[in-house]
Amino acid sequence: MTALPQFVCASANPGKVAEIQALLRGVVDLLPRPEAVPDVVEDADTLIGNARLKAAALVEATGLPALADDTGLEVSALCGAPGVHTARYAGEGCSDADNRHKMLGELTDAEDRTAAFRTVALALWPDGSEIAVEGVCAGTITTEERGAAGFGYDAIFAPDGGGGLTFSEMGVDAKHAVSHRGKAFRALLAELDRRS
Ligand code: IMP
Repeated sequence: MTALPQFVCASANPGKVAEIQALLRGVVDLLPRPEAVPDVVEDADTLIGNARLKAAALVEATGLPALADDTGLEVSALCGAPGVHTARYAGEGCSDADNRHKMLGELTDAEDRTAAFRTVALALWPDGSEIAVEGVCAGTITTEERGAAGFGYDAIFAPDGGGGLTFSEMGVDAKHAVSHRGKAFRALLAELDRRS
């Protein structure tokens, strides 16, 4: 049996890591991010720039290929914001709940509640070569939180084609089938396969 290609996961966010593990199971041997690696300051002004910063920190620390992703939520009524600032939308050190609360407040009077999640997934090797791909999931911001599962903005984002359910109300497999991260990592796997 051929060994699976090994990559270190640049994320330490448990919700995200569980999703990435499920998406790559059986195809990639995903090693956990070593606890000793300090958090990366994500100060690039693009998703791909931040994904590259995260992956580069892990490649440097471990000498192994690394996988990273970076996600932004682009809201039409906010002219595409918060985008690359999605994680810190409600301010430095804010929680997921703070972000959801701020978003619902900002959109109180919005007629257009359309939005899209965009994920860049990036594989980086110690020789500096990389693959970067994107996955987009269009949907709407709901008027209230619905559902308890998931993380981040899941409880206020209803993807197009999801029957009006939020990501939090969908099973994890249903989320992966349409989500930005699902699309990005399937594209990454296809590209890895094409190059192997
Ligand atoms: P990151 O780039 O993956 O760290 O994500 C940036 C921000 O988007 C964080 O606030 C995450 O909680 C949020 N986010 C990323 N992916 C998802 C998702 O699949 N559902 C809901 N929120 C997400």
